[in-house]
Amino acid sequence: MARFIFITGGVVSSLGKGLASAALGALLQARGFTVRLRKLDPYLNVDPGTMSPFEHGEVFVTDDGAETDLDLGHYERFTGVAARKTDSVSSGRIYSNVLEKERRGDYLGKTIQVIPHVTNEIKDFISIGEDEVDFMLCEIGGTVGDIEGLPFFEAIRQFSQEKPRGQCVFMHLTLLPYIKASGELKTKPTQHSVKELRSIGLAPDILVCRSEGPIPQKEREKLALFCNVRPDAVIAAQDLKSIYEAPLAYHREGLDQAVLDAFQISPAPKPELSRWEDVADRIHNPEGEVRVAIVGKYTQLEDAYKSIAEALTHGGMANRVRVTADWIDAEIFEREDPAPYLEEFDAILVPGGFGERGTEGKIKAAEFARTRKVPYLGICLGMQMAVIEAARNLAELGDAGSEEFDHEAGKKRFTPVVYHLKEWVQGNYKVTRKADDDKGGTMRLGAYDAVLKEGSKVAQVYGSCQIEERHRHRYEVDIKYRDALEDKGLVFSGMSPDGRLPEIVEVADHPWFIGVQFHPELKSKPFEPHPLFADFIRAAKENSRLV
Ligand code: GLN
Repeated sequence: MARFIFITGGVVSSLGKGLASAALGALLQARGFTVRLRKLDPYLNVDPGTMSPFEHGEVFVTDDGAETDLDLGHYERFTGVAARKTDSVSSGRIYSNVLEKERRGDYLGKTIQVIPHVTNEIKDFISIGEDEVDFMLCEIGGTVGDIEGLPFFEAIRQFSQEKPRGQCVFMHLTLLPYIKASGELKTKPTQHSVKELRSIGLAPDILVCRSEGPIPQKEREKLALFCNVRPDAVIAAQDLKSIYEAPLAYHREGLDQAVLDAFQISPAPKPELSRWEDVADRIHNPEGEVRVAIVGKYTQLEDAYKSIAEALTHGGMANRVRVTADWIDAEIFEREDPAPYLEEFDAILVPGGFGERGTEGKIKAAEFARTRKVPYLGICLGMQMAVIEAARNLAELGDAGSEEFDHEAGKKRFTPVVYHLKEWVQGNYKVTRKADDDKGGTMRLGAYDAVLKEGSKVAQVYGSCQIEERHRHRYEVDIKYRDALEDKGLVFSGMSPDGRLPEIVEVADHPWFIGVQFHPELKSKPFEPHPLFADFIRAAKENSRLV
């Protein structure tokens, strides 16, 4: 049976709870344990799939097709354990399950209440697959004191009481603000946060304290005394240059040791940290730099393309270069010539996106990359835009466009080179959708196989002709334009196994121009950079040498 680690946060949000959980997962693995990480989010959306990236950052998609919180991306990047549908839950999902059961009559006429019905639903979720791993790490979203978080805190309190003693450990992340005028690190907000936790029956075993600098011994002892933890369970989390230093930094601070001590695991197995030492070495000692322009829509919020930013860093690590990514608002290119903006970059990436705004600018960016022979990676919408560009400018389909942008009934503005897919095959099943289906969870989601053309650039990049990648989209490139486009040099080099859905296109006479219908960034890891990102950055590096 797994041991459980519950991770909560206090004082303020955005302290890096997800990162701390992910780094702890990696450290436990380094000591030979198996882990799984879970996120419990108190918001009322059933999942983040319908939230704007501006609201909640990127939507991370799992192999089994769940649209989840971006923290699951951190978990995967640090542990390499593929997340599942059952690793992410929200209040919305919990309540909707409870209400569904109530309607079905499962509760046999009882009055439905937060305790026990909602808390039971949460506890059931936490224990899914508990026999599969040594440690289950459950992060509770938000901060202690939030009204919506209460059922989750109550559920983990009950859960730890129901398990044998010593089976659950609580880790609480807080902030130690530094007051410049007095030159002091203040412990009071942490004391209050722990008091809040204790008032709902939870006592932290480990305190992880975010601070700008090291925590002096005096403050450590004070925190231990006032918050009722052991002094060596007060862990400093200082700001880091790169998130990938986190496992080593937390190890130096004694986090993994404190966790093993709290579980009374002794003697503690020695950690094997060479993977993280190599990662840190590649981050800190680059031999050059490449610059990538990301032409997209959600450019104000870095988290909106979190996995892409990380995958580019991984590609840089594979090539021992630092990747500087500049985010450019695609709409600019609808008014201005892209050349002066894009000429200074070694490569161009057009990421995924939804809706028409900015798409003409993305098409311009694809045209610039194709005609000027600059390495181009188009992801999902970025592939669709590259195909539309080729259809318009190479295959003489001047009004080529996507059905996604033709939403006004009766007014067709485009020839739909990209169309709304309503029926497809997933494994042995046929999936069907209607045009007016709900927005939530109705896209082509999760892992699908693709077959690559022998001798193509992508087959060479992957070193294989069979791949599996994660999807999240409604629209598809129409196979009926394949011959016209291939005649002009846009090769359909990856297809769904049934040959109906184009998965990858590439420009034949170009150093590196690849569009993919899926999201390779979701599977990239610092210790295992995704082949497409590794090769894209290699091409960028090559291009930067030529200029
Ligand atoms: N909006 C496009 C579609 O639904 C692309 C989606 C994406 O880029 N993830 O097909």
